[in-house]
Amino acid sequence: MNVLVLGAGQLARMMALAVKPLNIDIRAFDVSSGNVVDPLSTDITFGNLTQGIEFADFITAEFEHIDHQTLALCQASGKLRPASQAIKVGGDRRLEKELLIKCHVANAQHQIIETKADFHQALNTLSFPLILKSALAGYDGKGQWRLKDKSQAEETWLDIKAFFDGGEQGVKHAVIAEQMVPFDREVSLVGVRDSQGNTIVYPLTQNHHSKGVLSVSIATERDEALQSQAKQVFDKIANELNYIGVLAIEFFQMGQQLLVNEIAPRVHNSGHWTQQGADTCQFENHLRAVCDLPLGSTDLIRPSAMINILGEDKVPNEILNVASATLHWYGKSKRAGRKMGHINVSGNTEKQLAARLMQLASILPKAAFDELKPYVTSYQEQLS
Ligand code: ADP
Ligand code: MG
Repeated sequence: MNVLVLGAGQLARMMALAVKPLNIDIRAFDVSSGNVVDPLSTDITFGNLTQGIEFADFITAEFEHIDHQTLALCQASGKLRPASQAIKVGGDRRLEKELLIKCHVANAQHQIIETKADFHQALNTLSFPLILKSALAGYDGKGQWRLKDKSQAEETWLDIKAFFDGGEQGVKHAVIAEQMVPFDREVSLVGVRDSQGNTIVYPLTQNHHSKGVLSVSIATERDEALQSQAKQVFDKIANELNYIGVLAIEFFQMGQQLLVNEIAPRVHNSGHWTQQGADTCQFENHLRAVCDLPLGSTDLIRPSAMINILGEDKVPNEILNVASATLHWYGKSKRAGRKMGHINVSGNTEKQLAARLMQLASILPKAAFDELKPYVTSYQEQLS
């Protein structure tokens, strides 16, 4: 089976690694060069998208910010899974909010801002503090502004205006103003839906972000009540989109209530722990759904965690002495804050997992992993 992935980053690479044993051959469309490449070697297989579409039995995507012409070409081939509409929802916060409202799922109070008048209206209607997020082209905390009160309004508007002007020409830019949610923690649900409409989800993952970017995810035994609340949301959204493949939903948790933050129509960073911690990893399950193979069990093998490596192309080899730790590099060139790789680690119990996380936190350089130790310390305190 041949599959073309739109996007040639680490997610396409991890898909290729995961499904080689199933005899699924992955090629990746590099949107910046227009070439179709082997996602592991980055060798060019085809010089254009048309040949890539021809080669593929199925087409999927590793990210949502894909130009609409490319999506239309792939959609017209009848091979694209999930469909272009689902991918577009993930790439435009306006469509995303419309979907959440249509599905009657709880999310943060918000308003759409396209003009200065909309901006002032939002400031007068919503309660502070606010977060403003670019509707298009935002990821990993980019294209976001935080407002404590009205005093920063004017300079923030000028910044937003400059962001619109610097963005793609000929499209209608917008930001979504959202009330800051005083969450207890952030969790995410990664799940998969096949073409028959069957859905299955992984245990909710607890996520810690640092400067708007995911830094640690922890997956443990399921809290049944929370898990079923999240699964209901997953089913509503995935069914509404007639979705095929892995879909991730980020939530804010307050007490026992979940509010949807955002959705990602793809495999997700908070699901990387499934490579070691679940019966079937998210990458394999995504391709199983896309290729009409039976979905694999999403059961947790044992408590597991993932630590992102941001902006570093080396870590001390000693981390490989920590029992169960595995290292995954993405082969990317070093840039400040860039997702370069991750470390997965598991434990037979949560306490053992926490102890191993602490071992890793002691070895990893503090400068690059500054929030890791405090986060693991608080996790250990919760357990004792
Ligand atoms: P991205 O596409 O960059 O992941 P998010 O909407 O998930 O964008 O925002 C990044 C992070 O910013 C979130 O994981 C969360 O920590 C914080 N954040 C975003 N929206 C809110 C909100 N309404 N209230 C509180 N924190 C928020
Ligand atoms: Mg997010």
